[in-house]
Amino acid sequence: MQNSIVDIEKEAFQSIEQAQDSDQLEQLSIEYLGRKGVLTKFLRNISSLPENERPGAGKNANILKGKLERAFKSAFSKIEAATDIDFTGIDVTLPGRPAHIGSLHPVTQVTKEVCDIFLRLGFDIAEGPEVETDYYNFEALNIPKYHPARDMQDTFYVSENIVLRTHTSPSQPRVMEKTKPPVRIIAPGKVFRCDSDITHTPMFHQVEGLMVDENISFGDLKGILTTFVHQFFDKETSLRFRPSFFPFTEPSAEVDIRCVMCKGEGCRICSKTGWLEVLGSGMVHPAVFENVGYDTDKYTGFAFGVGIERLAMLKYGIDDIRKFFENDIRFLRQF
Ligand SMILES: [Zn+2]
Repeated sequence: MQNSIVDIEKEAFQSIEQAQDSDQLEQLSIEYLGRKGVLTKFLRNISSLPENERPGAGKNANILKGKLERAFKSAFSKIEAATDIDFTGIDVTLPGRPAHIGSLHPVTQVTKEVCDIFLRLGFDIAEGPEVETDYYNFEALNIPKYHPARDMQDTFYVSENIVLRTHTSPSQPRVMEKTKPPVRIIAPGKVFRCDSDITHTPMFHQVEGLMVDENISFGDLKGILTTFVHQFFDKETSLRFRPSFFPFTEPSAEVDIRCVMCKGEGCRICSKTGWLEVLGSGMVHPAVFENVGYDTDKYTGFAFGVGIERLAMLKYGIDDIRKFFENDIRFLRQF
């Protein structure tokens, strides 16, 4: 009797293995587990066994019953899955899946747009290194070592005299050292500051502008920046200049634009003031000209700097600067 349970198990599993379709499986299931099935009969006949063999035989038969039930279940689902594939096949009439070809990153788009505006105004594009010497990043721009103005920018130092540039302004002395006036350049690029929150990232982008010639006045600065703001936002956007301080310009001015969200009514974005700070600017400090050997009696010039992410946030109504660098395709697809 003990032997026959082993035989039943062996036979049953062989048959399940060989079953071709669900009909055959169904048939086998009845044959083994049905009311008159092999295993059912076996269980029914246990009472005819000698008393000492009964508990062992019953236990083994029930274990086998469980095993067979699971085996049938998985055999059924295997056959079903195989049938599914036959049904779906390859439908050659289906249209192809469109490939998402991507788009330019909003920071790239805005940089390009800003450059295009200034190229039309006769500016050239200059580029400088992102890993910069302390001299070009600070000293040539009238920020001596240990000067308190260095605290305005939290700097990543690579070594004592090498920094990750904190602004695109080093392109001013770099270009002027090699060029006689007139100079008319913009310098877009990455800059780095040790700063990270909802409005700051350790790496961001700026565009620096510089114009030097005889008789360049603050009026020229105002004219160029007004033209830029009108082309980048719209002609209704007004500007205001507020006195400020930068070591490399004198006089210096922060440039605000009328809030593009509320049109000056006052909202959360402009802290109820109706104005947004977008640019730093001023007339180039004579000390900067002296560092590059320009005649300060003959030449004057202006410089300005603007954050690309700041412009993009205002233009597209983005409230968190970190979104630019999270690589979230749902965000990037909108541009
Ligand atoms: Zn506002």
